[in-house]
Amino acid sequence: MSLHGEYDTDNIFAKILRGELPAVKVFEDDETLAFMDVFPQSDGHVLVIPKARSRNILDTAPDVLVDVISKTQTLAKAVEKALSPDGIIITQFNGAPAGQTVFHLHFHIIPRYDDKTMGDHAKGQMADMGKLNLLADKIKAAI
Ligand code: 5GP
Repeated sequence: MSLHGEYDTDNIFAKILRGELPAVKVFEDDETLAFMDVFPQSDGHVLVIPKARSRNILDTAPDVLVDVISKTQTLAKAVEKALSPDGIIITQFNGAPAGQTVFHLHFHIIPRYDDKTMGDHAKGQMADMGKLNLLADKIKAAI
């Protein structure tokens, strides 16, 4: 997958945006959607995506980027308030060699806890849906 290829309208996040795949949503407005990562690297791992189509940070319009990073901050604050982590990682990968696996721009909000190791990126066990919904409810209530 090159950094500058065509946007694939059948990527997983495009399908979530169209409602063709389910997602545990925590925030939505006209420009942005935030939902729980189903292969979380820690409790409270949230993904924030623009509704506008772009593959990565390089092909994203600056106004879209400004909006999505601002919403990422809002969501990170909600995660902090809801779950009281000891730290929060914000990540964003561009291109497969950089670790990107879904080719629709997204920011990861990954809470870190002193007493827990972080899980692997985009691997491992699918989250328990009951637990994911509980975490999402807490984050939603803190926005
Ligand atoms: P990337 O590797 O592109 O930075 O991140 C893609 C993220 O999407 C990974 O953290 C992965 O766990 C997550 N992911 C993959 N498939 C799905 C899915 O169907 N639903 C949700 N909510 N997250 C997904």
